[in-house]
Amino acid sequence: MPSILIVEDEIAIADTLLFALQGEGFGVQRVALAQEALATLRAIPIDLVILDVGLPDMSGFECCKALRRFSAVPVMFLTARAEEVDRVVGLEIGADDYVVKPFSPREVVARVRAILKRSRSGVALAPGEFDVDLSRLAIRYRGQPLKLTALEFRLLQQFAGAPERVFSREELLASVGAATDAGYERNVDTHIKSLRAKLREIAPEAEPIQTHRGFGYSYQPAARGAVR
Ligand code: CA
Repeated sequence: MPSILIVEDEIAIADTLLFALQGEGFGVQRVALAQEALATLRAIPIDLVILDVGLPDMSGFECCKALRRFSAVPVMFLTARAEEVDRVVGLEIGADDYVVKPFSPREVVARVRAILKRSRSGVALAPGEFDVDLSRLAIRYRGQPLKLTALEFRLLQQFAGAPERVFSREELLASVGAATDAGYERNVDTHIKSLRAKLREIAPEAEPIQTHRGFGYSYQPAARGAVR
């Protein structure tokens, strides 16, 4: 049962979401402040965060940036104004989607399901390119087995599970369970470099792992470009 954290100070809205999600079998936590959200995320496993942009103690954007320092959890913004969150801003600070108030609870539940599906199953989203076998801790790339270190495996698993999502270095480190001290950040670049070399041995013309200068990396599936 996936666990959802609702961060919303308007009780009526939070209640509506709570009932809609609980009715669909989700476990739901609810807090009204960004600080409470950060504390909750540090304390218990959460599968997705629904984050209001207008919170009393900190904006939802600030909250998202803060949680990205230690968590790769999917984030969906709630906003009163569409222009407040254009796609670019949302993606730059590591959000997965947003919904404009007033919204239909059914729509929110549908989007939550879509995000969870995307974040969990790289196999479903990258047919033919990456095939992740969790029981054997093995990944095939275009049908060829890859020889990966444990860390490379977890990095690639993250990418394959969220095509086109831009991960910051800190996020990638957090998602693979590595420490996030300043010195470790550059290590990500080293692991990515080695990962790319292994991918290139199989498909020299493709560049599935893209660099986003000053921010991090994303996986661009071959079907949507990136093959040169
Ligand atoms: Ca609010």
